[in-house]
Amino acid sequence: MSAAGLFPEPARVEPEPVGRLSAGRRRTQRQRAEVEAGWHPLTRDRSRPELGTCGTCAHRVLVRWHRRTYPKCDQGIGVGRPLDEAPYASHGPATDVRTWWPACGSWVRRSP
Ligand code: SF4
Repeated sequence: MSAAGLFPEPARVEPEPVGRLSAGRRRTQRQRAEVEAGWHPLTRDRSRPELGTCGTCAHRVLVRWHRRTYPKCDQGIGVGRPLDEAPYASHGPATDVRTWWPACGSWVRRSP
């Protein structure tokens, strides 16, 4: 028997073409992987898909800034307090709350 038969070639794994993806696309890929693994992309706790999604949560608010609107999570701040005090909101795109994310443990049904 030849050595090639004893040690078969490992399967080739094509690397992800991450170099060609934008930062936003890479972020979305990371978030999808976290969701598929059962984690919430924003809170980093176990997700609670049985409750709903961030898109149906009262804590997902749309913040207008100049000519754009940013979806943020206002969970954890008191009524009337600025969103800057929210533990899961920042001025960056990493904390933009996607409607398709599964709920976290703080999910509250949005009123119709
Ligand atoms: S489900 Fe959780 S992370 Fe999503 S908007 Fe509601 S409180 Fe925020």
